[in-house]
Amino acid sequence: MSSRRNFLQTLGTAALTLPSIPTAFAAAVNSEPYQGPVLRVALMGLGGYAGLVARGLESCQRAKLVGLISGTPSKIKSWSQKYNIPEKNCYNYENFDAIKDNKDIDVVYVITPNALHHGQVIRVAKAGKHVICEKPMALNAREGQEMVEACRNAKVKLLVGYRMHFEANTLEIVRMRQAGELGQIRFFQGLSGFRIGDPGQWRLTKNLAGGGALMDIGVYAINGSRYMVGEEPVWVTAQETKTDPQKFKPGVDETIQFQLGFPGGAVASCLSTYSMNNLDRFFLNGDKGFAELQPATGYGPIRGRTNKGELALPHVVHQTKQMEEMAAIILDNKKPVIPVDGEEGLKDLKIIDAIYQAVKSGKKLSLNL
Ligand code: NDP
Repeated sequence: MSSRRNFLQTLGTAALTLPSIPTAFAAAVNSEPYQGPVLRVALMGLGGYAGLVARGLESCQRAKLVGLISGTPSKIKSWSQKYNIPEKNCYNYENFDAIKDNKDIDVVYVITPNALHHGQVIRVAKAGKHVICEKPMALNAREGQEMVEACRNAKVKLLVGYRMHFEANTLEIVRMRQAGELGQIRFFQGLSGFRIGDPGQWRLTKNLAGGGALMDIGVYAINGSRYMVGEEPVWVTAQETKTDPQKFKPGVDETIQFQLGFPGGAVASCLSTYSMNNLDRFFLNGDKGFAELQPATGYGPIRGRTNKGELALPHVVHQTKQMEEMAAIILDNKKPVIPVDGEEGLKDLKIIDAIYQAVKSGKKLSLNL
């Protein structure tokens, strides 16, 4: 009951009156408390982002936090008290394979530093549980391919934490493009960046992050260019600049500009950086119109505008919406408008590999996704 109340508070009274509110949420508002199946989620890595996911889960109808995996005993203590998690559903990185015998857990959501995703996802798959893995799914396409295969062999689902794939303004632009309202798509611009702080953090450590801004924030422009243009890119060029080699050590990129070419003739021009604030913008141009999102990928509210005017779709907490939709994907085999499966994550990793190669070689490289 309390989660239903939080859910209503999350939406806010203004949003409740709007017709464009997502159907699942509208249904929850109008109906009796939900009695159907619930996705039982364990979170792995209790850091900053896991905190947001846990908060988002509090308002979910069809997904619930039931388990914890952490290397920090004090976090297990405080989180299990806060979320009422029994000791038998708490694990550390050494013993979590035993989750295979735990009937209370359906899916493990991996929210650890990038370099750990590959091994942890494969272990979860071998334990027979579905996996949600944070972006970037892995450090490179070889790792990504192994994760996809491990999940396929174990007959479990692998989903990537691409929360923007469920965001209402984003989906409205995808709908407009699919309906031909923007005409033939000619151009996409994706600007993704922020100014990173503490030089000692894992995001600036090559062996935990796998790279720099491109792995962490540039992946939004890569992934966004694919769902905004609606095609898979066939070539890439890329250029790197570094203003602070002390902070951004070899293998940790500060700023990369990259360009992608699409089979229909559209081009994408993107910027990924750890050195600029207020950089979160998507722009799509077609023969009949344009669409713009700014902010495009932050936690929201997302602001959208097209040649027809403002997009004013109501804000729903991204992590709540994502986990409701992922519950439907796992429990009901629902097909999302923009895929979030391991293959989708793997395509982005292939592009990341190619961007790093293009930076090194200075050449235009073909992509075969
Ligand atoms: P944090 O540093 O805040 O948390 C990571 C957690 O991973 C730690 O708190 C720790 O939890 C665990 N961990 C295990 N091994 C290590 C290690 N060697 N070094 C550091 N931490 C370790 O990172 P974030 O939560 O910001 O990011 C985690 C993942 O989530 C990344 O892949 C990132 O890209 C992604 N992310 C996605 C976002 C999105 O919007 N989709 C937003 C932010 C991040 P414990 O102590 O419990 O073991």
